[in-house]
Amino acid sequence: MILGQNLIDGKWVGSANSRASDDLDGQSFAQATATQVDEACKAARRDFRAYSGKSRAERAAFLRTIADQMDVLGDEITQTGMAETGLPEARLVGERGRTTGQLRMFADLIEETGYLDIRKDGALPDRTPLPRPDLRLTHKAIGPVAVFGASNFPLAFSTAGGDTASALAAGCPVIVKGHSAHAGTAELVAQAIAKAIEICGMPSGTFQMVQGSGREVGSALVQHPEIRAVGFTGSLAGGRALYDQCHARPQPIPFYGELGSVNPMFCLPAAMAARAVEIGTGWAASLTMGAGQFCTNPGVAVMLAGPESDALELACATALNDTAEQKMLTDGIHGAFEQGVREFRDLMVEVTSCGAATGNRAAVPALFKVSAKEWMANPKLQHEVFGAAGILVRCDDIDEMRAVAECIEGQLTLTLHLDDADAELASNLMPVLEEKAGRLLANGFPTGVEVCSAMMHGGPYPASTDVRATSVGTLAIVRWLRPVSYQNMPAALLPSELQG
Ligand code: NAP
Repeated sequence: MILGQNLIDGKWVGSANSRASDDLDGQSFAQATATQVDEACKAARRDFRAYSGKSRAERAAFLRTIADQMDVLGDEITQTGMAETGLPEARLVGERGRTTGQLRMFADLIEETGYLDIRKDGALPDRTPLPRPDLRLTHKAIGPVAVFGASNFPLAFSTAGGDTASALAAGCPVIVKGHSAHAGTAELVAQAIAKAIEICGMPSGTFQMVQGSGREVGSALVQHPEIRAVGFTGSLAGGRALYDQCHARPQPIPFYGELGSVNPMFCLPAAMAARAVEIGTGWAASLTMGAGQFCTNPGVAVMLAGPESDALELACATALNDTAEQKMLTDGIHGAFEQGVREFRDLMVEVTSCGAATGNRAAVPALFKVSAKEWMANPKLQHEVFGAAGILVRCDDIDEMRAVAECIEGQLTLTLHLDDADAELASNLMPVLEEKAGRLLANGFPTGVEVCSAMMHGGPYPASTDVRATSVGTLAIVRWLRPVSYQNMPAALLPSELQG
C-alpha cells in the first residue's frame, strides 16, 4: 500500500507540503523538507561505519533480500508503474527482472575480493639506496551516496537500480531522490528495501528516500556536507546543474551523471549495397522502441547519398508510418518532444508523414534528412530530442563521412553497419569512434544494454559527466570505492582482505 511519505532513518514520515498524483487517483506524496533532507544525510553518515563494516557476505545477503522483497511486491509494483508511466506490463515485469538480477549480480560480485583490486608490494629491507616498506592497497567505501533515477526506467535506473545496488554493494549508505514521474513506484521499491533492512538487521540509515518535485530537494541533497558522491541518470540540463553544484561545494565530490545521447550509426557502402532496406527497417524498430525514450536510442544515421540511402530512407519511413502513436512518459517529456520536432522541421526535410497524434501524451515518430554539411554546421542537430526522432545524414563522399565522425560529440554508443568490403574504411574510422563513445557496436542497434561484467554504459561528455565511469555492469561499483594504502601496518590493523 502506498503511504505517500518519505523514508527517513527507518521511519515513514509526512510533511506539510504534498503533491497529488493524477496517475494514481490523486494519491498525495509528501515533499521532503530541508530539515528532513538534513536528518536523512546525518543518519546516513551516522550509520556509514556500521554498514560499511558489515562483512561482504552480510551485504550480499542484504542485496539478495532486497531482490526477494521486490518480487514479493511484484504485482503492485507493476500495476503502479503502468499507471504512472504508461509503460506496458511486459516491459515493467521485464525491467523488474533486470533490477533484481542486478542486485543479485552485485551480491555475487562482492562475495569474491576481485572488485577490491588488491595490490601488495612486499617489503625490501635490503634494497639500496633505500629499503622499500611493505605496502598493501585495497578499496574502501566512499561514504553516503545520493541517487537520482530517470523517468524512463522506473525500476532499473531508479530506487533500487544499478546506482543503488552498486553503492550498497560497495558499503555505502544510499539516499534516493524519488523521481516525481513515478513517486508511487519509487515508494513501493523503497518499502521493499526497508523490509530487507529489517530482515537483515542493517542500520536504519543504510537506505532512505526523499520525494520532491522541483529543484529544492535534489539541490539540498547534493550540497549536503555528509554526502560523498552522487549517481544521476537523467537529462543533460538536470545533470549539468547538479554537477556544477557538486563541484562548487566547499568540499567538492564526484558526480556520476549518465545523460542523454543521440548514438549515431555509420552505414558503410558495402553494407548499404547488400541490405539498405534491412538496416532501414531495423532502425525504425530500434528508434520507436519504448516510444524512443531510451538514452541509447539511435537518433542519427550517417551514409553516402545515393540510391542505397534512398532505399533505406523509404524502408525506414514506411515502417515508421506503420507504427501506431505511442504514449510518452510525462507531459513534460511529451511537450519537449513536440517542441524538438517543430524545431527540426525548420532546419531539415521531414521524410515521414505520420500526421498529428491524437491521444493523451501521444506522439508519432518523426524522420528527417539533411546533408552532412548542414548537419556539421548546426550543433543543434546533435542535441538529443528525447523520443522517436531520427535524422538521416547524407554524405557526398567517404571524406565527408570521416569529417562527420570527427565532428561528433561524446556518445554512449556508436554503431557501424559494415560488410567485409568495408574493412578498410571501418579501420580508418575506428580510432575516431573509440575516442567518442563508451560502447561500439557492429551490425546491430544500440537499444538494449546487457547487464554484465564487460558492459560500459557511459561515454565522453555530454554522454556522461565522468568518462571513466559506467552505470551498468559490475564495473559500476568502482564509482563508490576509494583506494587506501597501508604502509608497514601491523597485520591486526589491516583490513581482512589484506592480511596474510
Ligand atoms: P531529468 O528531468 O533530468 O530528471 C532526473 C532526476 O533529476 C529527477 O529526479 C529530477 O527531479 C532531478 N532533477 C533534474 N534537474 C534537476 C535540477 N536542476 N535540480 C535538482 N534536481 C533535478 O531526466 P528525466 O526526464 O527523468 O530522464 C530522461 C533523460 O534521461 C533523457 O535525456 C535520457 O536520455 C536520460 N537517460 C540516460 C540514461 C543513461 O544511462 N545515460 C538512462 C536513462 C535515461 P524531478 O523529479 O523533480 O523531475
